[in-house]
Amino acid sequence: MVDIKEVAENIILIDNQLYSIPKWGSVYLINEERKALVDTGPTTSVNTVLKGMEKAGVAPGEINYIIITHIHLDHAGGAGELIKHMPGAKVIVHDKGARHLVNPERLMKSFASTMGERMVQKTGPVAPIAEERVIAVSGGEVFQLGGKQSLRILHMPGHAPHQLCILESQNNGLFSGDAAGILVADGRVLMPATPPPAFDLELSLSSLEELGKLKASAIYFAHFGATDKVRECIKVAMNKLKAWNMLISQAFNEGGFEFAFKKIKAQLYSELEPAKGSEALYQYLADGIVAMNVTGLLKYYQDRKARAEKVKR
Ligand SMILES: [Zn+2]
Repeated sequence: MVDIKEVAENIILIDNQLYSIPKWGSVYLINEERKALVDTGPTTSVNTVLKGMEKAGVAPGEINYIIITHIHLDHAGGAGELIKHMPGAKVIVHDKGARHLVNPERLMKSFASTMGERMVQKTGPVAPIAEERVIAVSGGEVFQLGGKQSLRILHMPGHAPHQLCILESQNNGLFSGDAAGILVADGRVLMPATPPPAFDLELSLSSLEELGKLKASAIYFAHFGATDKVRECIKVAMNKLKAWNMLISQAFNEGGFEFAFKKIKAQLYSELEPAKGSEALYQYLADGIVAMNVTGLLKYYQDRKARAEKVKR
């Protein structure tokens, strides 16, 4: 059974059962005169997305746009497979990610090397998308879907260089991708997502600040669902990033890499405690997300340190 829910006027959340975990991956269907999907999930979620659309009464042939918040495979891996069902659709993606969807070999290799073979199995293969079906954007573009609904594309790097957010005019809601972190376990845990290889702390913070200035009425998280606690979420995300940065800096000075690694890992585990009621999700967060965040944070920290030392010399 696929779960769908109208989270705002004409905006339908489809739970794409990401990695077979409920309430972990959101695909949003914007059901206007012209229709759009925001993210697709990986190839292993494509059937669930199609069923969700059917339940919402929208045929795949009616879709005009598939908007990719960023090209990480849990968001975009299924786009190539999904678009085979959508002859009228084009894919909107950041300029920095476009060529990787047209030719996904490098993307798949990078995913396998950072996430491991087990995740490759869970994600499935990535089908290429014909170049003429891709619209590369860099932020500032507007796509009109109906009389009251237009989508403004915003470039919000930090989580990844190709991260986009989308502000919709009808409800003043923001599709945040992973730019504001993940909000899971029915809102009990908000955690920034800081994956390797390209997480950037300073860019993340400045993007969050920009998102705050939009004064959106709602955030539609990619992981997972909608909230109207916009200011609070952005503030928590910023505060956590700053606190983690401080913790890593201090631990590094005190006891070096291994010590910093242990410290930040313990910190992230403690922040996940409130998700313990949702077993499958908690397992995935504790195994997958903690490792990913710790690796991304430390890589960023070390790169930054190396850059600073180079400047000093
Ligand atoms: Zn991501």
